[in-house]
Amino acid sequence: MTQLIERLRALIGDAGLITDPQEAKPYATDWRKRYFGKPLAVVKPASTAEVAAVMRLCAETRTAVVPQGGNTGLCGGATPDSAGTQIVLNLSRMNRVRAVDAVNNTITVEAGCVLANVQQAAAEAGRLFPLSLAAEGSCEIGGNLFTNAGGTAVLRYGNARDLLLGLEVVLSDGQIWDGLRGLRKDNTGYDLKQLFVGAEGTLGVITAAVLKLFPQPRARATALVALESPAKGLQLLSHIQGVCGDRLTGFELMSAFCLALVAKHFPATRLPFAEVHPQYVLLELSDTASAANLDNALHEALAEASEAGLALDAVVAASAAQAAALWALRENIPEAQVHEGKQIKHDVSVPISRIAEFIAVTDAELQRAFPGVRMVTFGHLGDGNLHYNIAPAAGGGEDAFVARAGEISRIVHDSAARFAGSISAEHGLGQYKRDAILRYKSPLEMELMRRIKAALDPQGVMNPGKVL
Ligand code: FAD
Ligand code: ZN
Repeated sequence: MTQLIERLRALIGDAGLITDPQEAKPYATDWRKRYFGKPLAVVKPASTAEVAAVMRLCAETRTAVVPQGGNTGLCGGATPDSAGTQIVLNLSRMNRVRAVDAVNNTITVEAGCVLANVQQAAAEAGRLFPLSLAAEGSCEIGGNLFTNAGGTAVLRYGNARDLLLGLEVVLSDGQIWDGLRGLRKDNTGYDLKQLFVGAEGTLGVITAAVLKLFPQPRARATALVALESPAKGLQLLSHIQGVCGDRLTGFELMSAFCLALVAKHFPATRLPFAEVHPQYVLLELSDTASAANLDNALHEALAEASEAGLALDAVVAASAAQAAALWALRENIPEAQVHEGKQIKHDVSVPISRIAEFIAVTDAELQRAFPGVRMVTFGHLGDGNLHYNIAPAAGGGEDAFVARAGEISRIVHDSAARFAGSISAEHGLGQYKRDAILRYKSPLEMELMRRIKAALDPQGVMNPGKVL
């Protein structure tokens, strides 16, 4: 082991090597503090050549490698095990923007670029990089691609996968695949880059990517709409899409209970309606045309929605500050949940058209099995993706509740499967859902995944124990 560390030191120098357990701790624990690993070392290469050299050494010595970006993942995918033999390969030092091509509408960045910095670099070139999530100040492009991150603009622009044109990957044996193409059209065989997206570090190491840019919107319009039910939310979605087309960028559902939690734990919160309504949708439109156009379209769409009985009430933000305050209602839900206490969380998707029925059926099933549990349901209604979380009944014991997490998740996941849905819409499998997925994917699908893994990582050094 000491010899391996010395060989790593010779490859990347002291600046890129952490062996002190105390210093390594932040890299050995996941964001939710659910997994605690013990790496042999944390290796932080500064170039693609250094990554390749490290991978060659690890292949030679059969050392397991856990790639890591900003370490904000929510399923333990970037956490090493506790054997003290795996290395964490952290890409954060590879943080250069290599090129911006405003005519090709592309940006070429290294894997360790923090998402917010990519957005910033795009904005400086007068363009938009639309991937946006609450962790954007810390998560990195490599992590975003390897988890196929979603967020709040998927409705209009797609997941990380949809924003990708080219990749540079260091393979498990240290070979460098230069697939850094910025082409919109390329039908020359299998689309290899997409194999790596969502693979959670199990197939290779992304070192750089060519990403799509979009015109910078000149106007945004934001509204909070009160609704009777998620079913009305679906009708509202169709209606707004009909009137506003693809200017609809975000469409987020929040229950009254979610907003009550935000108001309770963020005392400065101002709820915009005097009355409490059962459900709310936060929606955002954006356009490269003038603000007046967009506001007119939104007001027209909301007036019609109200006449048709889809909306109980609505407020439209009159300034950027008001829009930010509306978005804070949505963005503060996860932290409010943390303050409220332990909850059992799920990140499911079903076909958009079935989301209301999914909520009704699954809520009822949970109430039958665990009377009084409180549902903290919110999420990306426009993508069919819910953060479907469950808190213990008021006054109910937290520990007894958490002890039954397996039974509760089984109900939720089985229900998602019955609705032809997925048990992980955004966060991935990592180590958290590695076993659960076996119940929902067919043996053939699992076998195909294992064959791909064996082809790209025959020695099994890439992030063992994750996904498969
Ligand atoms: P890490 O956590 O470091 O790694 C994630 C996975 O990718 C691991 O399996 C790791 O091995 C692999 N990996 C990382 N970099 C590389 C690389 N260069 N090469 C190979 N493998 C690599 N996710 C969403 O999809 N939507 C959301 O809205 C969202 N909101 C969030 C909000 C908060 C507050 C937090 C904490 C997380 C949220 N997430 C969300 C989850 C998380 O931010 C995303 O999964 C993000 O894409 C992870 O990026 P990262 O750089 O932190 O990756
Ligand atoms: Zn989400």
